[in-house]
This record gives sequence, structure tokens and C-alpha cells, in this order.
Amino acid sequence: MNETTLDTAESSIVTSSADAAPRRTFELDDTGFKEVPKRWRKFYRHWQGAGDELAPNEVICPVCKVVIRSHREFRPGDRVYCMPCMSRLVVVERPDGRLEADVLY
Ligand SMILES: [Zn+2]
Repeated sequence: MNETTLDTAESSIVTSSADAAPRRTFELDDTGFKEVPKRWRKFYRHWQGAGDELAPNEVICPVCKVVIRSHREFRPGDRVYCMPCMSRLVVVERPDGRLEADVLY
């Protein structure tokens, strides 16, 4: 360990010229989501129901209600793929500011 811990918050922010503001990035852990091959498990988790909260890098698949996770926080217009039910989704912002996913047909 020769990493300094002082600026880890700084260094975890990535900038993309296409974005209005830098996106936060997230470390993803294996959630034990067994419906997909092991290398993809960290990108999905089961919604825990009442009391569960979505992080800025998580959206719920409207088809199978699985939580889809990303290394970066989601923004409206992001395309995501739900491997458990093979749906192609796009992230949309609701009037109350919440991010949700809509199915792309
Ligand atoms: Zn799904």
C-alpha cells in the first residue's frame, strides 16, 4: 500500500467532456446475485423492498425489478442492459427528480 489516502475522493471523480458535471464513481462488490455469470454479479442486486434505497449509480429494471448497478452515477439518457431479463433500458428522470429506467423497444 503506497497509495495516499488523502485524495482518494478527488481521484475517484472522472470527467467526461460530454457531461455537464463530473460523475461520481463507485466501487462495486459481488452481491451474490446468482442469476448471472460470476463476473457480472456485481452489476446487479436484488431489491430489498421497503426501506431499501437506490444509490446514484443504481436503477431498477421495470421488467424484472432487479437493481442494475454501474461504476458511475447514472444520468438521464444512459443506456443500460438488464442481463437477467435481457431488456435494453434507458435512464429517465421523473418530474420529482428520481431516476428510473424505461424499456427501449
Ligand atoms: Zn430486468
